[in-house]
Amino acid sequence: MARRRLVAGNWKMNGARATLGELSAIALAAQQAGNVDVAIALPATLIAPAGAAAPGLTIGAQDVHAAPSGAHTGCLSVAMIAEAGAQFSIVGHSERRADNHETDAQVKAKAEALRGGGLRAILCVGETLAERDAGQAEAVVAGQLTGSLPAGAAADWLSIAYEPVWAIGTGRTPTVADVASMHAAIRATLRTLIGPEADAMRLLYGGSVTGDNAAELLGAGDVDGALVGGASLSAAKFVPIIEAAV
Ligand code: PEP
Repeated sequence: MARRRLVAGNWKMNGARATLGELSAIALAAQQAGNVDVAIALPATLIAPAGAAAPGLTIGAQDVHAAPSGAHTGCLSVAMIAEAGAQFSIVGHSERRADNHETDAQVKAKAEALRGGGLRAILCVGETLAERDAGQAEAVVAGQLTGSLPAGAAADWLSIAYEPVWAIGTGRTPTVADVASMHAAIRATLRTLIGPEADAMRLLYGGSVTGDNAAELLGAGDVDGALVGGASLSAAKFVPIIEAAV
């Protein structure tokens, strides 16, 4: 099945109003790359100003709370990020799973809250190096997927990002064969969970994607796009990744 590619950036805890000029250049490249979807997950403080800096660019958040409101100091609801201009959010990023001890059940609830609010989601899964070395990578990822896949999972609002924890921000990437085999395993798990809808769902690879390796990684079987951290912070580094996806 032909799936339109998605290249998404994740600025993490980086960026300021002064760096929003990067988004204007990214928005222009996104417009020119007509057959690829481009999206950027920003720090919450930049979501609203990004709307003016880069009109037309799909902007999202990096996390959201599952509850609609309440005593959750420091958290943001789906309605809050939507009001700021977010059209999607990442959920289950490994940095949140590790730093904030987020469970699969919480990740699932966040994704379901996004759907309820009419927003899209990118759900992240991925194994640690110890898990890969122990030969457990596919089992760990299948477990995360089974535990965190939201009710109503469908390709029009949900994408899955496979991000091996050991590849994030390290400059190390899995081999193309390893990426292809993990993505095939993810697709197979999705088929058991949601049937034929699995074949429409976009599977992104994330972890040290750069302009130099993007074409190779995007060429691996069952890879429908990329989730990009460090290289999404500058247009000079991110635009070549978009171009590799065209
Ligand atoms: C990420 O954090 O989602 C990521 C893929 O980071 P990087 O591209 O910097 O490895």
